[in-house]
Formats: sequence, C-alpha cells, structure tokens
Amino acid sequence: MACPFCSLLCDDLSLSVTDNKIVVASNDCHRAKLGFELDPGRQYPQIEGQRVSQTAAIKAAVKLLRRGHRPLISGLGADIEGVRETIRLAELSKAIVDHGNSADFDIGMRVMQKKGWYMTTLAELRNRSDLVVIVGADIVGNYENFARRVLAPKQNLHLQKSKRRRVFYIGDIATAPKSTKACVIESIHCDSSRIAEIMAALRACISGRLLQAKCVAKTRMGEVEALGKAIKEADYPVFVWAPAHLPSVQADLTIQSIARIIDDLNRTQRAAGLALGGDNGGMSAANVCTWLTGYPLHVSFAGKTIDYDPVQYKTSALLEHKTIDTLVWIDSIGNTAAPATDPGVRRIVIGRASTEQGSIADVFIPVGVPGIDHAGTMIRTDSVVSIHLDRVRTSRAPSVRKIIRSIVEQW
Ligand code: SF4
Repeated sequence: MACPFCSLLCDDLSLSVTDNKIVVASNDCHRAKLGFELDPGRQYPQIEGQRVSQTAAIKAAVKLLRRGHRPLISGLGADIEGVRETIRLAELSKAIVDHGNSADFDIGMRVMQKKGWYMTTLAELRNRSDLVVIVGADIVGNYENFARRVLAPKQNLHLQKSKRRRVFYIGDIATAPKSTKACVIESIHCDSSRIAEIMAALRACISGRLLQAKCVAKTRMGEVEALGKAIKEADYPVFVWAPAHLPSVQADLTIQSIARIIDDLNRTQRAAGLALGGDNGGMSAANVCTWLTGYPLHVSFAGKTIDYDPVQYKTSALLEHKTIDTLVWIDSIGNTAAPATDPGVRRIVIGRASTEQGSIADVFIPVGVPGIDHAGTMIRTDSVVSIHLDRVRTSRAPSVRKIIRSIVEQW
C-alpha cells in the first residue's frame, strides 16, 4: 500500500485492517503510524459549530464564497483530483490559490526559475548514484524511509554498485543520520546556519581554486577537500537537500551553491540534485496548478488574466497583511488546523473527519483521506512520478474532489 503522509509516497507498506481499524504492519515510520492509525472520528458537517447536513454545509459554503470579495483557498492538502477541482472553484470564485507549506518549496523554485538546475529522481539515485551528499536534510525525523528505500535498498538494478555507494552528511549533529550495517554515513558536522559556508568552500575545492583557510565553519579544510576529491572521483554524485530543513535566511544561498556545484561538475562528469519537499499534497498542488495555469501556486483569479505573484499571494503574507475576507482551508492529509485569521474573515474548513475544527470555522465539512478512505493519486517529491493510493477501509467520508465539485455545481 502507498502512504500519503509525506512526499516520498512509499508504496511498500503492509496494513492490517480489523473492524475498520488500521494497523501498519511493516515498512512504516512514525509519521505513517500516526497518519494511518489515527481514529477516523465521527465528525459531521457544521455551520457555526452546529451539526447540519452536508447539503446545508455546501450551500452555506457557496453563499460565503459568493459574498467574499477576496477569497483565499489554501492548505490544499489533497490529491491530484482534489486540487484539479479546487482550481475550478478558484476560477469561479475569483480566489487566490496557495498551498499551506508553499513557503518551503518557494526557495528551491526561486533558484530553479533564475538559472535552472540538474535534478534526478528517487529511482535514479537508488539505481545509479555511487556517491550521495545529504546537505542539511533531516532524514531521521522526516522522510524516515529514505535511507531504507533509496540509500540502501535491498533490491535495485546495480546492487553491487549501490553496495559501494558512499553517503556523506553535512549539517547539524542533532539531525545527523547514524550509520547502519546497510549504509555507512560519513559526516561533516557544522551548525546548520553555516552549511552555506561549507558548500561555498566545497565548490571552491571542486573547481580547483585554492583556499588559504585552515577551517571553515569550524570544520578542517582537509575534510572538505577530501569530500571534494571523492565527489570528483565519483561516477554519479547526487546532492540531496530539503528546503524546509535549511535555516530560512541561508536556504537560498545554500541551494544556489549546491546548484552551482552540480553545474560545475556537469562540465566533465554526471551529477544531479534531489530536493525532498512538497509534503501534505504540496507536490501534487504545485504540479496540478502548473499544468492548469502555467504557474506553480501563488496565483490569483481575481483579474481578467491569471496573476502569479509568489510574494503577494503567499498564505502567510495575505494573512499578515489582512488582505483577504474569506479563507477556504483544505487539508485531507496532514490534519493541520486552519491558521488564525482576523475576526472579520469568514472561514470554510474542509478537513479530516478526525479534526476538531468545527467550532473554529463558519462552515466545516469533513472529508476522508486519500489512500485510506478513498482511492486517489499523488505526485512524489521528485515531481515525475504519480503514485496511486488505494482505499483501505470502508468509509462514508467524501473526498475533497467530491465536496469541491458539489460547491462548483451549486455555484
Ligand atoms: S517516509 Fe513518508 S511516505 Fe514513507 S512511510 Fe513514512 S510518512 Fe509514509
């Protein structure tokens, strides 16, 4: 079974379902356990905290959205089908569309938009890379199955090659992955706020420039030079990072340095990057929005043409500057609460049936989880593979797609 609870979308979990209760039997991680084993709850549609029928809740949502002059549809924790339908609603209601975590992948997007980059996929890394550098990504607390499935898989196309694979980690000791029998990890520990310095020094070493410094970010230059040498000698080095795990003020600089190192390497050898991110449906939302509008989220349908502005149309900025009057918050996966808004902002929450958000929304409509209560499709972190999610328990909770389509049909 595939797991929707982070953007790795691992598809080798075993689940057992007894009396509609799910237990993850193997290949899980703490996040998957929390997500799958959460009680489904008995939430019902609500208007101002009062139980109503689904039809009444949908009617109320239509009414609120029609009255709104500047609605924001965010959260967007949904599968591909849910996001597609949401874009239709945004067009009708002249809303702004964003994802709740979009700020995380905006950083990488800026680097990509400015100069482009060489990226690879989880499968390419697993099958062909002989050296991996993890730059500040916390693969212990998040993306827990990355090591098992990608760095040290039991099966792949070139098993002998992957057994010789060298894995390096650059970053804070607190999030450093530990070596296992299957995967030895060599670490360069530094404060996470100084990773950019290490990457700049590494770039200098790789491109043959002489640095007079003995240390960089309290790391001996000898260590950085040894890593540079190993990278140059590798057939296919891959750099892995997670934009959300890099300190925000350093993130642009760090990702730019990684992208430039990869550019330099590609003059004489093969090298690529892999960004981990787009959890809670973020990668699906960014892709679907790009297919349908040409822009990766942060789009407004208020004008005659679609307007893309990653600064102005960011959820946090819109809330901080108090420029919206209606918030539609969708999260069928992560169980995140809708953010706080001004008292004047009308709130429509479409969330997991287990959430307790009915009392803090003008209209609350419970939905099921893709991959648990209904089938669906989501896009993986490498943005090139869509994974089918099966329904695993009997449920009456509707999908985001179904609810949004009902709103669209009543418009
Ligand atoms: S690593 Fe992510 S996709 Fe894989 S089982 Fe854990 S939460 Fe699910």
